[in-house]
Amino acid sequence: MITLRDITVWDTGETIDLTIPEGTAMPDGDYDATGLTLAPGFADPHVHFRDPGQTYKESMVSGCEAAASGGYTDVLIMPNTVPAMDGETLADPEAPGAREVLDAGCDNVIDYLQHYESIHKVDLPVRYDLCVCASKGRVGHEATELDHWRRYMPGQDDESKDRYQLAHPVTAISDDGSAVTPQILDDVLAMTRESGLYLIEHCEHHDTGAVNEGPVSRKLGVPGIPEDTELKVVERDIAKARETGVHIHFQHVSTAISFDAIRKAKAEGLPITCETAPHYLALCDEALLEYGTLAKMNPPLRSEADRQATIAAIADGTVDLLATDHAPHTLDEKKLGFLEAPNGIIGLECAYGVCHKVLVDGGHISDKRLIELMSVEPMRLMGHEPTDVTALLDEQNGNGEPGAKRTLDLGALDTATAAGIGLAVLNTGEAWTVDPEQFHSKARNTPFGGWHVTGRPLATIIGTRLVFSRIAR
Ligand SMILES: [Zn+2]
Ligand SMILES: [Zn+2]
Repeated sequence: MITLRDITVWDTGETIDLTIPEGTAMPDGDYDATGLTLAPGFADPHVHFRDPGQTYKESMVSGCEAAASGGYTDVLIMPNTVPAMDGETLADPEAPGAREVLDAGCDNVIDYLQHYESIHKVDLPVRYDLCVCASKGRVGHEATELDHWRRYMPGQDDESKDRYQLAHPVTAISDDGSAVTPQILDDVLAMTRESGLYLIEHCEHHDTGAVNEGPVSRKLGVPGIPEDTELKVVERDIAKARETGVHIHFQHVSTAISFDAIRKAKAEGLPITCETAPHYLALCDEALLEYGTLAKMNPPLRSEADRQATIAAIADGTVDLLATDHAPHTLDEKKLGFLEAPNGIIGLECAYGVCHKVLVDGGHISDKRLIELMSVEPMRLMGHEPTDVTALLDEQNGNGEPGAKRTLDLGALDTATAAGIGLAVLNTGEAWTVDPEQFHSKARNTPFGGWHVTGRPLATIIGTRLVFSRIAR
C-alpha cells in the first residue's frame, strides 16, 4: 500500500492523506506529498495511437504509456488507423494493416481495438474509448453505416458484451485528418443524430499549401494555407448545428476569425463545443524558422495575432477544453521537408507543462481552470464523470471532527465506484526541461524539446491502482 501524506485537493484546497492499495509504479510506503495537488486525471478526446497499421510510429502500448506519464487517465482514439476504423468488415486480407486484425480473429478495427488487451495479453495503463469514421475508409465518398457499428455503442445489447467491449465503446464520430466532405455531410449528421453520439470535426480544408500563408511562408518559399480554410468549415458546420441540433465538436481551432464565429454561435446557444491544442497557444508560424517540420501541423501554426487570440479564447471560455492531437511520426518522416513531411506532433507528455507555462505563469488563467480544461471538461465531453475527490472524502469520513485531516482510502471503495476513479498527482510549481528522449511514446516529433516549462504530472491512478509515478521519496 502507498500513502501520499498531506496532498492538497485541487479545487477545495483541503489537505488529505491518500492511500492507494495497488501498483508497482513505486515502492509501498509513506510519502510526503506536501505541496502536491490531487486532481481528476487528464482526459484527451483527440489522440492518434497508430495501431493497427503504423505501429512503427506508436502502438496502443506506447501511446497509453505516454498518456499515463502525462497525467492522463482517459483518451479517445481517432479513427485514422490503417485500415480506418469505419466498422466495415475487412474483406481484403492483403490491404495495408488488415493482416494484424484478421490474424487476431477480429473482423474490423473496432473489434480489434476493443480486444487489444486480451489479444496482446497486456494491461494498458489508461482507459480508452473509440471514435468511428464518418466516412467509409475515411475517404469522404460515402457515410459509414450505423447498422454496421451501432452494436459498439454504449447501451446497445450490453448484456451480451464481454468486459473489453464494455470498457472501450464507440462514443463519437469523426473523419479527423480531414473535414467531413460536403457531399456526405447531411448523411453524416443524420447518422449522428440517430446514433445519439456527437460529431468531432477536423474543421480545416485546403487543397494546396503546407504552412500558414504569410511572411513566414514567403520567406521559406513554401506554398501557404490561407487563414479562412478553417473558418469556412467552422461556418458551414455552425449553420448545420443550427439546422439539425446535432452536437458538433470542433477540433484544434487555431484562428482568431474562427474563435469569433464560435463565440457568436455559442452566444446563440447552439450545440457546439471546441478545443485547441498546446501548440496553438504556445507557438506561431515563426516557429517554422526555428523548428522546421517539427512545427508543421494541420491546421498550420498561424500568426502571432492568432496565437494571442487563442489564449484570449481560452481565457474567456470560448475554448471548452484542451486536447493534444497527439500525432506520432518518425523523425525520418519529418525530415522529408515542408512539402512532404507528415503533419502533426506528439503532445501527451509535455502538454500540462507547456500549457501551465504559457497560460498560468502567463497570468491568463488559474491553476484550477487549467485542470478543468484538461480533465473535467474533456471527461464530460467524452461522456464520463470526472472523479470528485471531495464527494468521496465526505462518503468515507462522514462528519468527523471539524478541522481533522481526512483520508481518502481507495482500497475501501466499492467495485463500481473504484472503476470510475481516475486521478493525477501534479506538482503545479515544478520547473523542468522537456526531454523527448525520456518520453514513453515511440515518437520524438515535438518542437518542445529543451523547453523550460512549469507544472508536472507526477503520478497517475486508475481505479485502485497507481499506474505511473515519478514521485521520489
Ligand atoms: Zn485534425
Ligand atoms: Zn487529429
